[in-house]
Amino acid sequence: RAKSAHSDQPCFYDSAMDDAVRDRRELACDLRAAVQAGAFHLHFQVQAEIATGRVTGYEALLRWTHPSRGPISPAKFIPLAEENGDIVPLSVWVLREACFQAALWPDPHIVSVNLSPLHLADPQLIAMVRAALDESGLPAERLLLELTESAIIRDRRYALRQLAALKAMGIAIALDDFGVGYSSLDVLRSFPFDRIKLDSSFVAEIERSEQAVAILRSVVAPGTILDMPVLAEGIERPAQLAIVAREGCSAIQGYLIGRPSHRPADPDKVEDLMQLGPRVLRQALVS
Ligand code: C2E
Ligand code: MG
Ligand code: MG
Ligand code: MG
Repeated sequence: RAKSAHSDQPCFYDSAMDDAVRDRRELACDLRAAVQAGAFHLHFQVQAEIATGRVTGYEALLRWTHPSRGPISPAKFIPLAEENGDIVPLSVWVLREACFQAALWPDPHIVSVNLSPLHLADPQLIAMVRAALDESGLPAERLLLELTESAIIRDRRYALRQLAALKAMGIAIALDDFGVGYSSLDVLRSFPFDRIKLDSSFVAEIERSEQAVAILRSVVAPGTILDMPVLAEGIERPAQLAIVAREGCSAIQGYLIGRPSHRPADPDKVEDLMQLGPRVLRQALVS
């Protein structure tokens, strides 16, 4: 039996519970212990500009290697941490770790950090971000926060205030996983996003399906209308890069140019890989 540091709820499980319930309980308890023991690390995944091939930044992605189960996807443990009230301490750790690591990089690239909607709602967020920047020495201009639409839907006015305070510090904000939620042009227009990240589902089929390309076009359009640069996520093949370039995206992220890894990918190698898209386009024009 372990006790939470953040609530009075006991953290327990026993053999009488349903298997799936027990599994989740167990994981939640291990997660809580891991937060306190600092058993996490970050991976970084490169992002690059299509027009120049240049690296613009790296996204910090949280990794948890469970002592007996091995690596567990953040898609599984982040929601668990959100349910159990462990997300804020975890998120604080990520933000500080990302700032401290980025401050040591040889080139002054931007570091993107995913922010939970629950953390955006935390009144201490602004002071905490300020402290992470001050203590790491990372300039605010090198930090970008990625938020999903659900962050804004909860309490629109408070979210807007928090975002305005972050922007006033010089921090950039991106709307993550765009297109799969509820954002309308109206929501986009009322928030000061510096860029939009399209969900990877919009590029999965574009080489095979004209309909998929038409859908991609429709999710790129709001960004174009509002003058917000659009980054395409999940780019794995040169042909996908060629198509998103043609459809108006300005940057990409994906296995084609770099997998998440302990160290930021080499910008020269990334620049070479970025040439693969234009090459595919040229070939298509010739043939
Ligand atoms: P996300 O922010 O949309 O991150 C992109 C995800 O796509 C990452 O998964 C990345 O590894 C994966 N990815 C990148 N390129 C490719 C590709 O070419 N193909 C495919 N199939 N996948 C690709 P990951 O690292 O498993 O993270 C999943 C989600 O967990 C993230 O989605 C984000 O929502 C959340 N997450 C990760 N780290 C954090 C964190 O520190 N804090 C919070 N609040 N959420 C996080
Ligand atoms: Mg992954
Ligand atoms: Mg993200
Ligand atoms: Mg995303």
